[in-house]
Amino acid sequence: MGAWLEGKSLADKIKENVQAEVEKYRQSCGAVPGLAGVLVGDNPSSQIYLRTKERTCQALGIWSQILRLPADTPAESLKVKIEELNAGDHIDGILVQVPLPAHLNAHQVVSWVRPEKDVDGIHPYNLGLLLENQPGPRTCTPAGIVALIKSTGASIEGRDVVVIGRSMIVGKPLAAMLTNENGTVTICHSKTKDLAGTAARADILIAAMGKPAFVGPDFVKPGAIVIDVGTNSVSDAALIRQLYGNDPKREKDLREKGYTVVGDVQPAVVEKASFQSPVPGGIGPLTIAMLMRNTLEAFKRGRGFQL
Ligand code: NAP
Repeated sequence: MGAWLEGKSLADKIKENVQAEVEKYRQSCGAVPGLAGVLVGDNPSSQIYLRTKERTCQALGIWSQILRLPADTPAESLKVKIEELNAGDHIDGILVQVPLPAHLNAHQVVSWVRPEKDVDGIHPYNLGLLLENQPGPRTCTPAGIVALIKSTGASIEGRDVVVIGRSMIVGKPLAAMLTNENGTVTICHSKTKDLAGTAARADILIAAMGKPAFVGPDFVKPGAIVIDVGTNSVSDAALIRQLYGNDPKREKDLREKGYTVVGDVQPAVVEKASFQSPVPGGIGPLTIAMLMRNTLEAFKRGRGFQL
């Protein structure tokens, strides 16, 4: 039986360090890092994510602002707004919340953010730095995943690592980071033949698919570290009871919200793994902590302070 690998205490430690440094700079130079979030439209989940990020900034002493734009904002107007944020001296980081409305091309929009202010680490320039293993802002969720794996004391070097998912915000940058850590990395996706067999060879398995409870014990090598990135809202009460039994927290979610959040990995996997990160409470808190760290680092780079 393995252990649940919660992300909260590591995330708290990262945020405490950021808060202490922010306070140091506030006292020594009278300036604090600034983060601007851009929300186009009124996607409810995006609003919640951005509010959480804003509240975290406030708690750590980081100045923050959310620019809310209507869903039908033309690309040209959005570009002008982003350029204004690029020019703002008090803004060190810009984060464009995805998903964007269908008429906007996320790849293009991200490329309008100045690479130095891309605290999500998804600008093509910063992804290039990652591939070259050069310093730069690292994509938040993958950086959180690497930190959580390392927190177990396990080494990534020489280990067989399987990443299920090849998106630009999780799978691909994660595979690059794990390669930079000297892991032997395999990326799987929807066209992979024998997904379970490939996954079961991994010492470290990361699922970032967006498919609730897809990964079962048959995907897992005994003693593997399993990181669950999936964040899926599930309203099927029978499925939830099959997976979690009569879990009071999930029953409450179903009653009050009509859904509960489930990962890509079945909870039964923990019996075979050495560690399994839970959903919620695993990678989610680390993603925000890494965003805060990237914002502080952008502030330091921008002012010529040592990182
Ligand atoms: P995405 O862009 O939809 O990518 C999903 C990936 O999974 C794709 O590469 C897809 O393959 C692969 N996939 C889907 N079904 C598969 C199957 N049956 N077999 C093998 N591969 C399959 O999703 P994403 O943005 O990377 O996010 C993935 C999950 O992580 C989502 O649940 C998301 O909500 C969650 N997430 C959580 C955090 C956090 O902070 N906790 C942050 C980001 C994302 P193809 O490329 O072949 O289509």
